[in-house]
Amino acid sequence: MKYGGYAGKILRVDLSSNRISTEKVSDEMAELYLGGNGFAAKILFDEVPAGTDPLGENNKLLFFTGPVTGTNMPVCGSRLVVVTKSPLNNRFLDSYAGGEFAAYMKYAGFDGIVIEGKASEPVYLWIDDDTVEIRKADTLWGKKTYETQNELRKMAGDRDIATACIGPAGEKLARIACILTGVHAAGRGGVGAVMGSKNLKAIAVRGTKGVEVADLEAFRLFSREIRGRISANAGTGTGLPTFGTAAVVEVNNKLGMLGTNNYQKEEFEHADLIGGKYLKENCFVANDACFGCSIACAKVNKAREGKYQNYLTVGPEYETLFSLGSNCGISSIDAIIAGDRLCDEYGIDTISGGSVISMAMECSEKGLLDPDSADGLDLSFGNHEAMVELVRKIGEREGIGWIMGEGTVRFAEHLGKGADKFAIHVKGLEVPAHSARGLPGMAIGYATSNRGGTHQDGRPTAERAGIVDPATTEGKGTYEVQVQRMTTFMDSMVMCRMLEGIFGPVGLTEDHARLVKVVTGMDLSIGNLKDIADRIYILERATNIREGENRSSDTLPWRFMNEPIPSGPSKGKYIPENVLNMMLDETYEERGWDKKTGLPLRETLERLKLVDLVQEIHEQK
Ligand code: SF4
Repeated sequence: MKYGGYAGKILRVDLSSNRISTEKVSDEMAELYLGGNGFAAKILFDEVPAGTDPLGENNKLLFFTGPVTGTNMPVCGSRLVVVTKSPLNNRFLDSYAGGEFAAYMKYAGFDGIVIEGKASEPVYLWIDDDTVEIRKADTLWGKKTYETQNELRKMAGDRDIATACIGPAGEKLARIACILTGVHAAGRGGVGAVMGSKNLKAIAVRGTKGVEVADLEAFRLFSREIRGRISANAGTGTGLPTFGTAAVVEVNNKLGMLGTNNYQKEEFEHADLIGGKYLKENCFVANDACFGCSIACAKVNKAREGKYQNYLTVGPEYETLFSLGSNCGISSIDAIIAGDRLCDEYGIDTISGGSVISMAMECSEKGLLDPDSADGLDLSFGNHEAMVELVRKIGEREGIGWIMGEGTVRFAEHLGKGADKFAIHVKGLEVPAHSARGLPGMAIGYATSNRGGTHQDGRPTAERAGIVDPATTEGKGTYEVQVQRMTTFMDSMVMCRMLEGIFGPVGLTEDHARLVKVVTGMDLSIGNLKDIADRIYILERATNIREGENRSSDTLPWRFMNEPIPSGPSKGKYIPENVLNMMLDETYEERGWDKKTGLPLRETLERLKLVDLVQEIHEQK
């Protein structure tokens, strides 16, 4: 192909027939969808029809890189996107991980891997440049993720490989199971269960090829400039390298926006015991970084004492300090470290795992779940031993852990008696650690995300920093579309979100266009990038529209729309239905979608060269 940055090839592996093939990436595909999530969204839409069982043979699992992957552009070279139809909510799903797997995939010569079908017995995929083999994984099946990856390295004769695998939770089809690559997780939406449903335990990849960018001199210049801007930036250049994302605990608690006790409150009296400063002073062991990243925001931490003292983890990240910490009312950092490590070992998404545990705690508090039905556990908020035990039970799918591994929506259906009010999810995906009630832009971001409750489509950054007024609701629909255009672009280049601090957190900029130019050679305006982002976002939404999605799907958890934050600096804030509706109208207006139905308008589809979707989308009316 004529553009730089791409390997130019996609690997296709059919596990039912053992057929392995490759296909070329066309220039037109790059021009329309850029790469990464854009390519994968297009393939998923074309090849996985509505009604497909996410855990059945006909679902597909796609591992993709972007044009910038494998280069040494700061904070850009490492990310992997995994795309599939989610078994948690039957929707389009993209989930991301750092580490080195994506760079190695590119070095082996592949922009993406499409996994199809289902193996008749446990297998793993071995990729060594052009050699691709489906190998037996009977000795790996049943093992946890760290051991699996260590075994794979031994089996590879200690050669330099990167690995991605599932743990017992994925093997046992827990719908909140993740994929672990090294110590990094593609966590959301049950990608691990899809991998398990295909009897695919792992992928090991070794690559020796490079990546050619379009304009090496311009690439070097821009790369040097970004490095300088990172060093000069207090947050990205100093805060993140020192404390990692854990520092957000103190920031959000001070704002009264730290989910506590299943989001019943948003201030946690023991926040100082689970924040970045406390971790740094008491548990810090070493820094860790994704492939080629100078920021090294990952922190290796060790539990200090008592029954958890042998646990070492890379993390916990901010999301996990919330999900296994404040949102379960837990102040024992040692227990959170243990819970984080166990989630990684079993292959459980820490956000969804923590959310279903905090929901169980609230249901116990409200009398909807008695100790007998909870395997005899005392599920009081703050009981860290119960939290750690529930992580184990979810991983083993044992006792109450079986239904909890299905996520909050199915857990609520199982409990009945109005438990759905305590399931904090959007479109079936559990909500992470950024306040919807305190940040209206974040709220509309959650509501209109194609995958559901994620902080990676809507973003909290600009409102939290006061760059955009967090007290205003008007204009937030339009604002959040700008943010989502930026995140969709980043996910198709497949870049780390931490670059927000350098390129800006609100929308697409000349920096984004310059990055595309030096890497691929495509000379695109900001307007061109917006069109690409809108095209991809509509394609994701169209995947969901085929499954019945419409305006009524773009909503928030009951609690966020009906219960104001009860105390603290953000006391009284919430998102009543009329405010959500006003922000939805703005969003649809900005996107060119029908305000009544939430479906993209015919002229919008035509403008974005999506004419083939006209029939499909408008048939659903
Ligand atoms: S900033 Fe952190 S998450 Fe992003 S690439 Fe660097 S180490 Fe990985």
